[in-house]
Amino acid sequence: MSKRVLVGAGVGSGLALGPAFVFGSTPTQAIDIVDPSQRLTLAQVRERLAEIADQFEADAQAGSSKVAFDILYTFAAILRDPELADRVKGQMAEGAHPTRAVTSALNSFSRPLIEAGGPFAERAQDLTDLGARVIRELEGLPEVSPFPTEPFILVADSLSPLDAARLDPKLTKAVILSGGSTTSHSAIIVRALNLPTVVGVAGTGLIASGAEILVDATSGQVFVEPSESEIKRYRRASLPDAPDSDWVEIDAELPVKLLANLGSSYEGAAALRAGAQGVGLFRTELLYLGRNDAPTYEEQVFEYSRMLARFQGKRVIARVLDLDDDKPLPFLKPAGSGRYINRGLQVLLANREVLVTQLEALAAASRYYPKTDLWVMAPMVLNPAEAIEFVQLARAAGHRQVGIMIEVPEITEPEILAQVLAAVDFVSLGTNDLTNYVLGTDRSTGGASLADVRRPEVLSVIKRVVELAKVHETPVSVCGEAGSDPHLAKMFIELGIDSLSASPALLPQLRVALASAQMFG
Ligand code: PEP
Ligand code: MG
Repeated sequence: MSKRVLVGAGVGSGLALGPAFVFGSTPTQAIDIVDPSQRLTLAQVRERLAEIADQFEADAQAGSSKVAFDILYTFAAILRDPELADRVKGQMAEGAHPTRAVTSALNSFSRPLIEAGGPFAERAQDLTDLGARVIRELEGLPEVSPFPTEPFILVADSLSPLDAARLDPKLTKAVILSGGSTTSHSAIIVRALNLPTVVGVAGTGLIASGAEILVDATSGQVFVEPSESEIKRYRRASLPDAPDSDWVEIDAELPVKLLANLGSSYEGAAALRAGAQGVGLFRTELLYLGRNDAPTYEEQVFEYSRMLARFQGKRVIARVLDLDDDKPLPFLKPAGSGRYINRGLQVLLANREVLVTQLEALAAASRYYPKTDLWVMAPMVLNPAEAIEFVQLARAAGHRQVGIMIEVPEITEPEILAQVLAAVDFVSLGTNDLTNYVLGTDRSTGGASLADVRRPEVLSVIKRVVELAKVHETPVSVCGEAGSDPHLAKMFIELGIDSLSASPALLPQLRVALASAQMFG
């Protein structure tokens, strides 16, 4: 028996075994002025900030940092922001040391985020990390990688985009975070790293650096100092180790399409390399998070076009903005009550201009790339009236394939579901939320595991949706994490779903598992 088994929510799947490295990032305050008599002029400070911004953009372009591409670009934009320059100038005019002036100007950007709490506070932490990096540069301190040079399993409370960008995927075998849910900011960043990851793990404080850890991201289990028999059992259970290139070569006839779940267009190339036959879930939240105003129509058309350009000849299912927190974004009026407060389509319907702009931007991108089969869907739809309203708005914007996600049990009641199916072109099962809402567990604090999808109360809901969708001849897909588990995927296929989607990193092994004679022979 291992010394301890800790449990959290798996992001994706996969196994890893290795020594723990317990990581805490360096707070800005810990770095100070090296030599107070050395003072850069305002022009020199501006020049240095521009150089750092250039460096961020170069890092973003470099393959190794693609994980935090959007965030590095955002950081570069902050450093080029004339308001930042004005604040630095004001502070320096009052006699502040240049380094202090920059720290204070950056802090004035993050203060309102900290006060807003929730996901905004996470973005404030990003700004703190940015501050630390900038101060290092201004003070001429060397950049030292905080991570080991030997393979390790990262254990941390959370992971900032800058730290994520510095992780070497060849040395990082898995990530365990005590904070966050599978949809938290950290989890989204880590998901793009394509590593076995478990988030929301209670008790990580008990793990010491160097302790051997076995991570099973599929079940969300973390074994601290596993026994020989546990390691053996896991080695047997692990899927065949095939190199990337072999995975994509496999040309087996699968009974369903395997699509990718993506958070931004930058993940598109990796998805195609992993053999994605399209995009089953394009999460558009990254465009909206951490901002004071909604992204403009033009910004959105740009990002959506970049995605559609990559998937010409294939299907892309874009999901309109899905809030997953009890704190709305500053530009959105709150909506709803009870356990679905401020979640899903109802928030967008209460902020119609934001929804309409997004639908129109998606439609414009689709006109630029007509060879890409763009479908649009709404998250967390609570009742048929909402579904009908969404369909009307999407059709008015020019969309032909309009669907909804099935994520709450109320909408799966047969009579209600029949009304929904009569109104939409397709449905997609969001098993992450659906499982939690059926079981009454809370996703933001870890929530249900993949294993819980097998619980009879969850399975009966999924079965009912697939069966009724078949009766209505409405395509039904699974886009929750459960679709990336080979055994659950096989079960969904046997139930009759039309397509499955998973994180790009998990597609090759899913394809191998589904194609194997063992599973379908
Ligand atoms: C889900 O809930 O299963 C889903 C795919 O949506 P998200 O994980 O983005 O909430
Ligand atoms: Mg969901």
